[in-house]
Amino acid sequence: MAISQKIEKFLANASFIRKMFEEGEQLRKIHGSDKVYDFTLGNPVNEPPKIFKEELKKLALEPVPGMHRYMSNAGYMETRQAVAQLLAEQSGLDFNEKHVVMTCGAGGALNVVLKTLLDPGDEVIILNPFFVEYKFYIDNHGGVFKEVATKEDFTLDLNAIDQAISEKTKAIILNSPNNPTGVIYSAQSLDSLEQVLSKKRKQYGHDTFVISDEPYAKIVYDGNQVPSIFKHITNSIAVTSHSKDLALPGERIGYLAINPLIDNIDLLIDGLIFCNRTLGFVNAPALMQRLVTHLQRESVDIEEYKEKRDLLYNHLTALGFEMVKPQGAFYLFPKNPIGDDMKFLETAKKFNILLVPGGGFGCPGYFRLAYCIDKQTIINSLPAFESLARELGM
Ligand code: PLP
Repeated sequence: MAISQKIEKFLANASFIRKMFEEGEQLRKIHGSDKVYDFTLGNPVNEPPKIFKEELKKLALEPVPGMHRYMSNAGYMETRQAVAQLLAEQSGLDFNEKHVVMTCGAGGALNVVLKTLLDPGDEVIILNPFFVEYKFYIDNHGGVFKEVATKEDFTLDLNAIDQAISEKTKAIILNSPNNPTGVIYSAQSLDSLEQVLSKKRKQYGHDTFVISDEPYAKIVYDGNQVPSIFKHITNSIAVTSHSKDLALPGERIGYLAINPLIDNIDLLIDGLIFCNRTLGFVNAPALMQRLVTHLQRESVDIEEYKEKRDLLYNHLTALGFEMVKPQGAFYLFPKNPIGDDMKFLETAKKFNILLVPGGGFGCPGYFRLAYCIDKQTIINSLPAFESLARELGM
């Protein structure tokens, strides 16, 4: 069968994820699912907050006439107003509904933004380690990705970013709290980035946008806060979703929001709404828009995630694994003590531990554990990590 050569090549490179999934299924058949410790997927096992179900029930019992029709491609006015109100409070800026477009998740929002901004050959900077889909999303719209390293502690390396921005750089994607490291970029580092961008604007005579991918913004620990990107970067567009904060990844509901201070803003808004339509999304799911209108200040139980983080982080560091303590999101990204990604993956599998090697995030020599799984599975996995550490001579 003839498919595009490009997609065939992408499939070959991405096949290890599928292979891992199949091997996981195989292990579950042999050992039983309670004895396989699958940390591979960022697909939360927790249920949405109770209030989500109450709102859902209300809508089912008292349906609003026309609630399943198309609406404006940007989404319902009242949903966008609810989002804008929260953003105005967080940023102190003059947000209103026109600055918000409801989307099919953060993934949908990223594609809409990239489609709107990129001409063929434009560069987009992504920071190592990065969410693996960024490369494909950038390619979808004719862009070229440029990988830039972060510092040893995964914070922003402003010199490296400064050097990487060229005349062709249209955007930088930031992801904070970060998947896979859990790092939050500080307000100070965002201010420094703004200075770099302003210097480049003078040098090249055009703007570089910051696309801030924030689906984990409400999942933060130890009193940390995620600085509002809009307070620090003028040419900023946030993309986010309720996949993680309300545990609704299958419902494909999110939004993009643009900084009210961006120049020539009406053209940008028109472009974004047009691309939401012409990429085939048409609009974000109607039912979900109605539901999340009233849930902008809600989230899943963050304490539950913190408990899971602490369980795993404390155990692994005691065994000698090195890692940055995550400030948010629900991933750990420890150093792989033997270096070789595939060898480490195979060794962990001997103890029924399934993980994602760092190479998948552009960072070989590390591995990612997604701890959005059952607490009991994490507890059951602890002796397996002890056996793994012993096997590795730690
Ligand atoms: N960005 C990051 C960093 C993610 O981790 C994910 C999902 O795991 C997404 C975007 C896509 O999320 P959504 O389900 O909202 O499309």
